[in-house]
Amino acid sequence: MTGPTDERRPERERMVAQQLRARGIRDQRVLDAFLAVPRERFVPPALVERAYEDGPLDIGEGQTISQPWVVAIMLQALELRPTDRLLEVGVGSGYALAVASHLCHEVFGVERRASLLAAARDHLASVGAPGGGMAGDVHLRLGDGSVGWPEAAPFDAILVSAAGVAIPPALEDQLAPAGRMVIPVGAGGDQQLFLVRRDAAGSLAREPLGPVRFVPLVTAPPTSD
Ligand code: SAH
Repeated sequence: MTGPTDERRPERERMVAQQLRARGIRDQRVLDAFLAVPRERFVPPALVERAYEDGPLDIGEGQTISQPWVVAIMLQALELRPTDRLLEVGVGSGYALAVASHLCHEVFGVERRASLLAAARDHLASVGAPGGGMAGDVHLRLGDGSVGWPEAAPFDAILVSAAGVAIPPALEDQLAPAGRMVIPVGAGGDQQLFLVRRDAAGSLAREPLGPVRFVPLVTAPPTSD
């Protein structure tokens, strides 16, 4: 998937060892998924040299590709299984969705900025998705992801990559029995990452996982520029 020459493999191995494993990411499937995705394909050309830095990077339009460690915390908390179907709200560069596609059967992504979605499509195609090459099938849509993707629901897992002022009820509704969602909640510098679980009987439990910092989840119609 990364082509015959994978020049940045050593940088990626360092990222996984130093930023993820050393900081407590223990799920081997999650670590392997990060090793499989060339992060340099998801950043703007000018930032390729910085692709494996330990922080978020600017992807244009005031948005960022999340810090690898934060993506890992979220994916590990989702306890993804190979048969799962996952929804990501806030596709951005497509990086988190690419990593998630190695952990699930099928992934769905919604992004509200058309230019970012177009770039994400290119990035995902360059690493072999949608279709062949990746572990799971990838489906993308332009829209306000705070309403989820009703036609494709329910989902075993929902990854929300932008911070809501509250947990959107539509997303909880679209969680399958035993489904999990991770979502940053709060405004500005006061955000908490929440894990929401639906038990087999259908009731929901919400557990805070710690402070985070994400761009806002914008509940307005998508922008076509
Ligand atoms: N997961 C991304 C990072 C996303 S940054 C990555 O790996 O690169 C958050 C993204 O959420 C931005 O691209 C922003 O445009 C998008 N976003 C914000 N509100 C949204 C909404 N209501 N629906 C869909 N996307 C949204």
